[in-house]
Amino acid sequence: MFKHKKRLGQCFLIDKNFVNKAVESANLTKDDVVLEIGLGKGILTEELAKNAKKVYVIEIDKSLEPYANRLKEMYDNIEIIWDDALKVDLDKLDFNKVVANLPYQISSPITFKLIKRGFDLAVLMYQYEFAKRMVAKEGTKDYGRLSVSVQSRADVDFISKIPPTAFYPKPKVYSALIKIKPNKNKYYIENEDFFDDFLRAIFQHRNKSVRKALIDSSKELNYDKDEMKKILEDFSDTNSEIKNLINEKVFKLSVGDIVKLSNELYKFTKR
Ligand code: SAM
Repeated sequence: MFKHKKRLGQCFLIDKNFVNKAVESANLTKDDVVLEIGLGKGILTEELAKNAKKVYVIEIDKSLEPYANRLKEMYDNIEIIWDDALKVDLDKLDFNKVVANLPYQISSPITFKLIKRGFDLAVLMYQYEFAKRMVAKEGTKDYGRLSVSVQSRADVDFISKIPPTAFYPKPKVYSALIKIKPNKNKYYIENEDFFDDFLRAIFQHRNKSVRKALIDSSKELNYDKDEMKKILEDFSDTNSEIKNLINEKVFKLSVGDIVKLSNELYKFTKR
């Protein structure tokens, strides 16, 4: 008898409707190579194998091997990688789509790792609260670093809310299906590392003005508070738009405004 491991987020899908919804949302063709994170008992893997050219599955728990073997006897287009998805070099796998019911404890790092690697389309299941933060718009309580970090690099759509009854064992919270389509043309980011540091700095103080937030978190950008104060004084003299933006509260700024501020501050400090 298989024993579910809570620490690995092992709530397996049992409701076929949501398996079908995930597969349909990914618009799979026989040209697609799909990456799945987390095999479980393979309920999603089987549908992916039927609809795609090839499926890579990364699974950390070797005790699920009997389920993998059963699937591999039926389908010859499944390759299982027994490893931690956070440690696998994704550049070595030639997938173009990602479909997965993610283990909730690695939601954030695996999402960023996937976006960095790049793909055509991803359809992913997250905890509902996490999903809401991914799609949140400026001015709302769920809007934060995650929202801006993802939406600045991709188009993100909320597909559907999923009740706990769709899984076994039944989780305590709702889940959600999200579609992510990377979009390099959406915004131009001058320097990705600076942008990530900038986001970390300002969203540590989402209710303060950008100016105050940057001074309070100046260490994230490798300055002390007095240096940052001086930089921002000169920076806000650049033009009235910059002045207005840095005096606005962090959580009220749109993704576009935040990208603009980060780009301008990067160029200003590198002059
Ligand atoms: N796809 C299956 C389903 O929908 O029923 C399983 C989904 S379950 C939420 C997450 C799966 O990811 C589990 O099988 C778990 O063992 C696996 N897992 C957890 N952490 C992992 C990691 N770091 N790398 C790879 N797989 C992981």
